[in-house]
This record gives sequence, structure tokens and C-alpha cells, in this order.
Amino acid sequence: MTTASEPPGPREGAAQEAREDTAWDGGWYRDATREPSPNYGPRPADASIDLIVVHSISLPPGVYGGRQVHQLFTNALDWDAHPYYAGIRGLQVSAHFFIERDGRLWQFVDCDQRAWHAGPSSYRSRANCNDDSVGIELEGLEGQTFEPAQYATLARLCRDLPQRYPIAHVAGHEHIAPGRKQDPGPGFDWMRLQSQLSWPSSVFPQKSTEPPP
Ligand SMILES: [Zn+2]
Repeated sequence: MTTASEPPGPREGAAQEAREDTAWDGGWYRDATREPSPNYGPRPADASIDLIVVHSISLPPGVYGGRQVHQLFTNALDWDAHPYYAGIRGLQVSAHFFIERDGRLWQFVDCDQRAWHAGPSSYRSRANCNDDSVGIELEGLEGQTFEPAQYATLARLCRDLPQRYPIAHVAGHEHIAPGRKQDPGPGFDWMRLQSQLSWPSSVFPQKSTEPPP
């Protein structure tokens, strides 16, 4: 079990307040290129958005640098363009953010809204993680490593999210849907992210498996 009595984000202060004004335009992050997805809905009115979920994705799997993930998240993917797509035909999904191999950052869904990235999931004794999390996809493949530019963008985004949301946890899709999902996988360096952020270890996935809810 993790407890985060203190938020991991920056302490209160005028400097942070000023930065909040510049980092966010409502739920849209100013440093991201916007590419709005229709795949979202309202969050529950009482949602406390305290979880960052880290994912990995590439389409076709292991192929980087194309537009296919963008097309998937905007319902524009040509399902006949690759045999792999037969297994995901018609899928309507999204994430708030997508970080490409070169660190370029895209935003598909307003963070005030509920994106469709987690699926059936549970974490910190709460189910339906889409309700109260921010989903960040890294261009990659489970088992492969990620680029320094991706860690840099991810850390900057994680650092700015607490300006607007009470972030207290960061976890992988594999941690919120164990047995069903394996991303971002063993190639993702959690210690690297933790040291970049200087957030307490209690914010990150613990070594021991959480008891079932
Ligand atoms: Zn995922």
C-alpha cells in the first residue's frame, strides 16, 4: 500500500502560481501540440485526479515515427493497412498525451475530461482509473527501452501536472491492470523518472504486489 501524505508536486508559492498560469490553458498543456480526439467523456463530478498512468504504444507494434497512433486516437486509422489492425478494428481509445521517440509531445484530450486509456483497472483501492487519472503514452514497445528525450518530456509534464491536479501517484498500465496489460514494461526505468522528479518513492509503484481490491 502506498500513502502519500504530502503531494509530490512543488510546494505552494508565488513562483508556482505564476508558472501554473503559463503551463496550462484550462486542461490543455501549452507545451503540447493539440490534436483533439473525439474519444473522451466527462469525469465524475467528485473525481480527484491524483494518478498519472504511464503507457507504451506503437503501431504496428515496434514501428516508430508514423502517424498511426495519432490516427488510432482520432478514429482515422485505416484498419486494412496492416494485418495487425484486424485485431483492434473499430477500437475507440485515446490518451491525454503521446510522447514520440524524439520527445515531441502531443495532447489528444483535455485533462479535465476522461480519456479512454486504462480500461478495466484498479489502483490505490479505487477502480476505473480512467475516472481520475491522466494517461500518458510513450511511443515504444513492451520490453524495449525508451529514449532520453522521452524521459525528459515525461518528467517535465509530470512536474507541471501537480500545478493543476493533486497528483499523488504515478503507475504503469501494468500496475493498474496486472495480468491484463504489460506496458510500459521492463524497459521503462522507473528509478530514472523518480530521480528526475525527486518525488518520494511512495509515489511510484511498490515492489510488492498490491492486494486485490
Ligand atoms: Zn497501456
